[in-house]
Amino acid sequence: MVVMNSKKIVIANWKMNPLSLTEAKRIFADTKKTANTLRNVQSVVCPPFIYLNELKNLVSGHRCAIGAQDVFFERNGAYTGEISAAMLAKAGVKYVIVGHSERRAQGETDEVVNKKTLAALKEGLHVVLCVGERERDEHARYFDFIRGELERALNGVPKKMAEKLIIAYEPLWAIGREAKSADTPKGTFETTLFIRKILADMYDKKMAMGMPVLYGGSVNKKNANEFLAHGGVQGLLVGRASLVGAHFAEILREADRS
Ligand code: PEP
Repeated sequence: MVVMNSKKIVIANWKMNPLSLTEAKRIFADTKKTANTLRNVQSVVCPPFIYLNELKNLVSGHRCAIGAQDVFFERNGAYTGEISAAMLAKAGVKYVIVGHSERRAQGETDEVVNKKTLAALKEGLHVVLCVGERERDEHARYFDFIRGELERALNGVPKKMAEKLIIAYEPLWAIGREAKSADTPKGTFETTLFIRKILADMYDKKMAMGMPVLYGGSVNKKNANEFLAHGGVQGLLVGRASLVGAHFAEILREADRS
């Protein structure tokens, strides 16, 4: 049996959108308006770095927090273009996505994902660690792939620090405009159960059952409810649909009702 906290977590990954601060403020205002009315959902908006400070200043209350889409593992120094976990924490950022498949596609290795995870957890940030297979083969070898990703990403992460971890299961074939389709709730249920088994092997059963596991990949206002009801997940990581205020608001309301 999966024992989880009742509050759902719904994370908006805006990726490299929108093009202007004005538009970013508009989408954030729409999201915040709905999020602040929902008791059973923790909403998190992850905009591009350049909008973080401005949007952080618009946060009111705890129901709609700000997250970053990436982080660097060193604290400060000669690392052109990078932003550290300490900088994010000092700016009031509470969550950070680590190991997103679009960053891995740019060459980010499991070793780097591990360093980023450790650095962000040390600064007290909630780490949204993304894992997911490229293909789902009929012999279920993708389970081994996910096990490997998780074990390498969490290498050296002690139990105490792992309390701030959120796992996002994002099968690559289900993400983005090129996606064939979203996963099925049944497929997600099986995989998230497996993820909890790995977490139980690495930590313990109680921790594995309590750790939030989210689903991401072509979530929209029509399918959100199925994943929340039957996917064994505690929330969602949403890309495209998080940029349309009305659609994301509907996903948040579904999460609140689930
Ligand atoms: C993502 O990239 O994390 C994602 C879930 O994207 P989308 O919802 O657009 O498939």
